[in-house]
Amino acid sequence: MAKLLRVKCTCGNVMNAAPGNSCPKCKQPLRFPEDAMISLYRKGSPLGIAGGFGLYINGEPMGHIGNRETVRIPLNYGTYNLHVAAGMNRRCTDLTIVLTPENRFAYAKVWMKPGFWTNSFVLEPATQEEMPND
Ligand SMILES: [Zn+2]
Repeated sequence: MAKLLRVKCTCGNVMNAAPGNSCPKCKQPLRFPEDAMISLYRKGSPLGIAGGFGLYINGEPMGHIGNRETVRIPLNYGTYNLHVAAGMNRRCTDLTIVLTPENRFAYAKVWMKPGFWTNSFVLEPATQEEMPND
């Protein structure tokens, strides 16, 4: 079974889809960047926070990431800021990933660090071996 990719349609709709799919919202054929890919894994939350974390790339919403989910985002070469937020939890240690011909496949993980007043998210680089679903 082909792994689904996280893409944003030109109409703004964000979804998991496979190459060849059309946007369910506007019916346009989806375009998939082919240069590079970021795979982001969400580590299991001991706090039992089941809801999706909102995922942002360069400030643009890119849907949610569920508990222990891996999201694969095809992108063109460039520099990307990864950020997550959920509900009242807005603090996040962002991660910058630079995609180049020498670094086409980037891996990252996100987890929630419990705090005294508020929880915060941590985005960190990962290795392919750390990706449980790859
Ligand atoms: Zn669309």
